[in-house]
Amino acid sequence: MSSDCLFCKIIRGEIPSKKVAETEHAFAFEDINPQAPKHILVIHKTHTESLATTSDNNLLAEVFGAARDIAAQAGLSNYRLVVNNGPEAGQTVFHLHVHLLAGRPFTWPPG
Ligand code: 5GP
Ligand code: ZN
Repeated sequence: MSSDCLFCKIIRGEIPSKKVAETEHAFAFEDINPQAPKHILVIHKTHTESLATTSDNNLLAEVFGAARDIAAQAGLSNYRLVVNNGPEAGQTVFHLHVHLLAGRPFTWPPG
């Protein structure tokens, strides 16, 4: 836990969020500024800044596995998972998170 991290505050309930799912290790909630009809953020309960700064592959498996399970439980078979790593890639919150996007067609390459 990091005291000044926005997503750690959301996990602790200090900042309200629309919770979608919670497991022993993961927490999922609706993005405040959705980029698709369904836009869920999946985070690990352990604070880690970014994909590149974690060497804990179990943590990655837990957060990606949670994203997969949430998609399956929502009946989704077409969706996109996004991890922005670093400011120039679009990362604005420095608590590792997977974006789960669904409900519209997606183009390639991404912007
Ligand atoms: P990033 O740009 O770091 O990949 O993604 C951060 C995401 O967090 C953005 O999609 C943004 O809309 C979302 N976000 C930022 N602040 C809040 C908040 O207070 N609550 C929720 N639910 N989402 C937030
Ligand atoms: Zn955090």
